[in-house]
Amino acid sequence: MNAVNTPLSLPEQVVAAIRAVVGAGPVALHEPSFNGNEWLYLKECLDSTFVSSVGKFVDRFEAELAAFIGAKHAVAMVNGTAALHIALKLAGVKADDEVLIPALTFVATANAVSYCNATPHFVDSEARTLGVDAAKLRDYLTRHTEQRASQCVNRATGRVIRALVPMHAFGHPVDLDGLLAVAHDFNLALVEDAAESLGSYYHGRHTGTFGLMGTLSFNGNKTITTGGGGAILTNDAELARHAKHLTTTAKLPHAWEYRHDEIGYNYRMPNLNAALGCAQLEQLPAMLAAKRELFQRYQTAFTPVADVKLMAEPEQCQSNYWLQTLLLDVELADQRDVLLKATNDAGFMTRPAWILMHELTPFKDCPRMDLTVAQLLSQCLINIPSSASLAHT
Ligand SMILES: *Cc1c(COP(=O)(O)O)cnc(C)c1O
Repeated sequence: MNAVNTPLSLPEQVVAAIRAVVGAGPVALHEPSFNGNEWLYLKECLDSTFVSSVGKFVDRFEAELAAFIGAKHAVAMVNGTAALHIALKLAGVKADDEVLIPALTFVATANAVSYCNATPHFVDSEARTLGVDAAKLRDYLTRHTEQRASQCVNRATGRVIRALVPMHAFGHPVDLDGLLAVAHDFNLALVEDAAESLGSYYHGRHTGTFGLMGTLSFNGNKTITTGGGGAILTNDAELARHAKHLTTTAKLPHAWEYRHDEIGYNYRMPNLNAALGCAQLEQLPAMLAAKRELFQRYQTAFTPVADVKLMAEPEQCQSNYWLQTLLLDVELADQRDVLLKATNDAGFMTRPAWILMHELTPFKDCPRMDLTVAQLLSQCLINIPSSASLAHT
């Protein structure tokens, strides 16, 4: 057969489409970029000697972050997991409670529930958003819970289901209207895990500002980074005050006395990390534009590849396109690992979705609903190189 007429195999097509956008490998999955005032602010921070948890960069980072997002308050902390832990605690999650979280998430969501001595209760996702399916959750709660003294009680375990923590997977906003209605109707506190969705908007409003609180992560692989870092977003002044108090060892302000009025945490973001964050925030609009451009270029490159679909932002939403995501046709799910191997062998770092939470040893006995869609998604989903810097290659 003439080589020109030989159709490319699916792995060959995918490698060619990625190469057409990002050039020759090796290319990482997601790398930070430091194109602004990072060195300047870090030097300023070192020169000030205020490198730890007190300093002007932390306050400035919080104010500028809140302003960018349109939240009344942002409280900076050491990482996104700590932010989730404190947000759940402030939402009233107590020992022996259950908390609804997607099975399709990063382990931090489940870990934070466990830090409260509560039990994660895994719920299914929908293909449209990759996030929690509100209609399926409503139907499940209707059949399996009852209201006792205005609390949602799981009939099977007798435990109170205290909160619902949807996660905006890879930056794509979940169905917030649907989930806010479920949270309202079943008396659940809604805390958004917005770790992946800085710069993502649902109906024109920034993710993480819809629930009682939202949490962000500034880990090295996220849209912007502070090295390690996280934040709680809230429009409630009292929750913001309490979050800052709890994360600064619950010490009462005093010139010399060390009096702590509850068990607090040493979770405050250090000034050094916040200095990096202030410079990164200045770059955020440019990074979001670059990631959107990268999406468009991938979309052009993948249009002729019939068996995979590039995940686009849900209707009436704006995604930050944190990680670009390919969805493999369900019939070809058995090809996923072949594709992962071909792309990684070609120097393009790709990876599958996380192993679902209920399949991890520490969470295998936790309660869960039918997880058919999350299971399918986890078999068909592949993240491809997504750094903002790739838009300019
Ligand atoms: C990154 C991330 C977090 C928080 O992670 P840290 O590394 O602790 O900052 C939480 N949830 C999700 C879904 C994440 O992707």
